[in-house]
Amino acid sequence: MTNTAEQTATMHAPVTGKKTAVTVAYGDGIGPEIMTATMKVLKAAGARIDFEEIEIGEKVYLSGNTSGIGQEAWDSLRKTRVFLKAPITTPQGGGYKSLNVTTRKVLGLYANVRPCVSYHPYIQTKHPIMDVVIVRENEEDLYAGIEHQQTDEVVQCLKLISRPGTEKIIRYAFEYARAYGRKKVTCFSKDNIMKMTDGLFHKTFDTIGQEYPEIEKEHYIVDIGAARLAETPEIFDVIVMPNLYGDILSDVAAQITGSVGLAGSANIGEGFAMFEAIHGSAPDLAGKNKANPSGLLLAAVQMLVHIGQADVAERIHNAWLRTIEEGVHTGDIYKQSVSESLVGTQEFADAVIERLGTAPQKFQAVDYSNGTATFNIKITPTVPAVKELIGVDVFLHHNDRDPNALAALLTDLNESGLKLSMITNRGTKVWPDGFPETFCTDHWRCRFTNALKQGISYQVVVDLLQKIHLKRLDIIKTENLCLFDGKPGYTAAQGQ
Ligand code: NAD
Repeated sequence: MTNTAEQTATMHAPVTGKKTAVTVAYGDGIGPEIMTATMKVLKAAGARIDFEEIEIGEKVYLSGNTSGIGQEAWDSLRKTRVFLKAPITTPQGGGYKSLNVTTRKVLGLYANVRPCVSYHPYIQTKHPIMDVVIVRENEEDLYAGIEHQQTDEVVQCLKLISRPGTEKIIRYAFEYARAYGRKKVTCFSKDNIMKMTDGLFHKTFDTIGQEYPEIEKEHYIVDIGAARLAETPEIFDVIVMPNLYGDILSDVAAQITGSVGLAGSANIGEGFAMFEAIHGSAPDLAGKNKANPSGLLLAAVQMLVHIGQADVAERIHNAWLRTIEEGVHTGDIYKQSVSESLVGTQEFADAVIERLGTAPQKFQAVDYSNGTATFNIKITPTVPAVKELIGVDVFLHHNDRDPNALAALLTDLNESGLKLSMITNRGTKVWPDGFPETFCTDHWRCRFTNALKQGISYQVVVDLLQKIHLKRLDIIKTENLCLFDGKPGYTAAQGQ
């Protein structure tokens, strides 16, 4: 059984009788119900916390604040530095930014730690042996939220992966494994396709992993890794992933333990921490007293350990295990074959409260007496490379679908040796020697490289763009082609 104290971070209050200030948000949908249940248990268990309640989410969004969180809420978070948050609803469309993503990024909560544990045989699951911790990178990747419509037919989302961001999360995963006696760290990436972004993630994993010789290391391409996780989760221990894969696969992992309502998560940064259930606001269950409060309650257990109240964390977690093994179950995990009674959200909390001070009889009791490890996450300083500009990719919105006709408009350009060398459409080479079968949209990348194989100044690019503009072509963006210490900082085209 996982010790859920395994979740944490770098800042920890000492164990004292003093109260700790924590910011709390009741959220949307099922949020208020599961938070009420969680607060009931926290109070009954004697948590030494002063809660500061803030309003965030749907109401704030609909009042015209597109980030869903106001200045007073930020002030409280900056003061307490610890946040217990119920799920919130992000309204669709209308330019609303995800409050969850904003909070994680603004507060630098780079590590999202999501333990997914099987409670077999007391919660029905196809996977009786499962104790996986997903360590998800929380700030980068496609979650930068930088999206643009570039042409009538094509929209774009930027995937940003940084070396320091990657190093932080990879080190966190290895430090976590070392601190909590875990044997293996697995990396999931898609570097067979995204050779530069996911390639950096994989390469950093290989490099940093060498500093942890006692820990087994492995890498899976994310698709086969996901398939194995869904089929044989028992082969995994700690898995570290870029943001998007981690978001998706931690829901899969929680669901196959029996319910997405079971898993809590810690969002850890250098000076802040946020604790929440992994699931969303489940509008289909809102107001029905049916939601499972376990995800948020176990997140609160993680929080208690984090703020130095391991005694309270242990009391609640053991009472929760006792409740689960005695078959007191909410609808999402209720099965006649394994459950004794079907209860609502508040009754489940009452059942946990009744069992406070008792230990589980079937599961191993948790022991948080060792408190939390403090990780030393150091980042290798960046050594600037020798950077040389050698060309440019010019992206055009162009409605004529004939690549040869487009090439004919551009081949006469020769700006200090900078000449058209290739055209691609959605990444596939269509000129020179394209395939007539390739489907083309109105979005073209025209690569200009320096036939003289020398570095150029940016003025050369500006002059080239000016000439393209004078041909009345619609430039939608450019990307510089650079060598970094002599190595290309760009990929070849598909089919090149
Ligand atoms: P969801 O996680 O809210 O619900 C998915 C399914 O799981 C639903 O069938 C739901 O009933 C069930 N479920 C979720 N939590 C449960 C619980 N505690 N007990 C029992 N069953 C539970 O995902 P969704 O429906 O895709 O999203 C709903 C809203 O939540 C959206 O607005 C989304 O943006 C938001 N969301 C918020 C967070 C967050 O605040 N951290 C995370 C994910 C989604």
